[in-house]
Amino acid sequence: MEVKYVPTTCPYCGTGCGFNLVVKDKKVIGVAPWNRNPINEGKLCPKGNYAWEFVNAPDRLTKPLIRKNGKLEPASWDEAYKLIASKLKGFKPEEVGFFSSARISNEENYLVAKFARAVVKTPHIDHCARLCHASTVAGLAAVFGSGAMTNSIGDIAESKCIFVIGSNTFEQHPLIARNMMIAQKNGAKLIVADPRVTPTAKQADLYMPFYSGTDVQIFNGMMHQIIKNGWENKDFIKNRTKDYDKLKEVVMKEAYNLENTAKISGIPAEKIAQAAEWFAKSGASCVCYSMGITQHTTGVDNVKSIANLQMITGNLGRPGTGVNALRGQNNVQGACDMGCLPNVYSGYQQVINPDMQKKMKDAWGVSEIAEGKVGYTITDMINVAADKPGTLKCLYIVGENPMLSDPDLHHVKKAFDNLDFVIVQDIFPTETTAVADVVLPGSCYAEKDGTQSNTERRVQKWRKAQDAPGEAKYDWQIICDLAKAMGYEKQFAFKNAEEIFNEIAKVTPSYGGMNYARLEKAEALQWPCPTADHPGSAVLHKEKFGTPDGLGILSAIEFKYPAEVPDKDYPLILTTGRCLWQFHTGSMTRRSGNLEREAPTGWVEICPEDAKALGIINGEKVKAVTRRGEIPITAKVTKDIKKGMAFIPFHFAECAANILTNNALDPIAKIPEYKACAVRIEKIKEA
Ligand code: SF4
Repeated sequence: MEVKYVPTTCPYCGTGCGFNLVVKDKKVIGVAPWNRNPINEGKLCPKGNYAWEFVNAPDRLTKPLIRKNGKLEPASWDEAYKLIASKLKGFKPEEVGFFSSARISNEENYLVAKFARAVVKTPHIDHCARLCHASTVAGLAAVFGSGAMTNSIGDIAESKCIFVIGSNTFEQHPLIARNMMIAQKNGAKLIVADPRVTPTAKQADLYMPFYSGTDVQIFNGMMHQIIKNGWENKDFIKNRTKDYDKLKEVVMKEAYNLENTAKISGIPAEKIAQAAEWFAKSGASCVCYSMGITQHTTGVDNVKSIANLQMITGNLGRPGTGVNALRGQNNVQGACDMGCLPNVYSGYQQVINPDMQKKMKDAWGVSEIAEGKVGYTITDMINVAADKPGTLKCLYIVGENPMLSDPDLHHVKKAFDNLDFVIVQDIFPTETTAVADVVLPGSCYAEKDGTQSNTERRVQKWRKAQDAPGEAKYDWQIICDLAKAMGYEKQFAFKNAEEIFNEIAKVTPSYGGMNYARLEKAEALQWPCPTADHPGSAVLHKEKFGTPDGLGILSAIEFKYPAEVPDKDYPLILTTGRCLWQFHTGSMTRRSGNLEREAPTGWVEICPEDAKALGIINGEKVKAVTRRGEIPITAKVTKDIKKGMAFIPFHFAECAANILTNNALDPIAKIPEYKACAVRIEKIKEA
């Protein structure tokens, strides 16, 4: 049988690397380089290399399942659709919530949002961006008028000074880190701020170890230095921004001088001074960040502080500069773009705007939609279900695993216990399918055509390489079938993904100039791409910002401590994150033998000094305890973490970090503070 090569994109991180899936006997059997791909030029990280291994794992979901007498039993599609339709019709619209997915295509996300708003007529739709970059979307939209990464992956290589904070780029976005290395080779300075000496920190020209949660203090401290020394970009501030005086009044307070910033952040004063000077004087400096910035009760403040730094130094609108939010999952950008957020339709068109409501009603051919109201976020939905039983009665979850990914898992479990009906659409059994009433088998990236949008707003094609197993269906097909069962056949009469994309382009201004033929020819287009002759946008905010008057807004922000700080009972700061070999809740990577072998379970990192004080040795089984719960876990004693800090990767159900994490939320973005809570590490006493 002939071997076929099908070009598509990696299903893991937001870099959006391209590769060929190798297909033999109608099955995916490997990955081969796609050398011409503009993002990764044929290179891949380990996750990309083994992204074929889970596709045909033996426990793929292949049939719908319905819970009968407490057990999930195989059922026909017809039976499942009828049950779901009758249940959804029985609830009031606002008693139903939807979680869409960063792992399904743009077309599928668009349909989930359309189904929620036009068929069920609920405003409650959100997805996991709430848990990773909601602070970016809210923070950058407020100050720049657009909530996305301002620049492109490739132009990081043109930077003269790269400041990485809250991102372990070399492990989590390795093919973006490649551009940092190219820049460094060309003489750029790499500054890395992190509580851990990560592989990224080890590449730095200047490493700044800090206490998690002190980001605003660091940015204000750097701006204090820059303004004090006259290194600010006066022209940019005058011509492109407003409210500089208000910003200056705050950052020039003595609270943000070198000495105080060093004391609060834990970074030696001379390092802060050096970073400020390199950054302000390089001529083209960028900031790259990820969830270490966003997952805080001050997530929006942190993001706005990065924007402040870039505006006062004039580092926006040119290659090598920018606010580069590195998105976590392959299509988390696309799920946001498609309106799987409680406040916007696709293309960030506000749901509270009556003109937008009319536009969508007309486009969708319905007389009524969930209108005039911003719905619940994911975190609201869990909190309401747990704490106000009866308010929310049903959740429809596509390709997410909140029973492992959301903070304070005991609280999440309480939320699910209080729900009347839970529908989960996924490709594998997960901790969340285990509590579902109906499970629907969807298809993975290798089994369908469609598009995704990577971290740099690049819309890329997926190409089908094999059929989904058993009776599993395209996720868009499931939504269309269900719409038909609910009486909305005409509005969901799509025959393929391309027809859905054409509707997206029609109603979404930033995607307006795109179609499949153009995407094939150009190999990808970056939004905004409003018209058929528009080349797409590699760099945003070149001449002006997307705010009504075109000016960037400088924000005066004071430093605040995290919601929970160490005390005598819980003396360390816990932070969580990914490791190189695993991804999120492990539903894909833990079914990949080569990846699972490298990191088969979790661990807690503490420094030798803290370990010695606790009498703990490397490799010992210990208990990690917070106010929310405790887990057994293996201690990794390493000098690669700052004293007073502990780190746990969040992939592993058997030592789930999210039993420990704090559900305290940023007041605007409603993102949880995964990156800082108070923890105690204990020896396990012999029985
Ligand atoms: Fe996949 Fe991200 Fe690795 Fe690229 S860098 S191969 S997109 S996991």
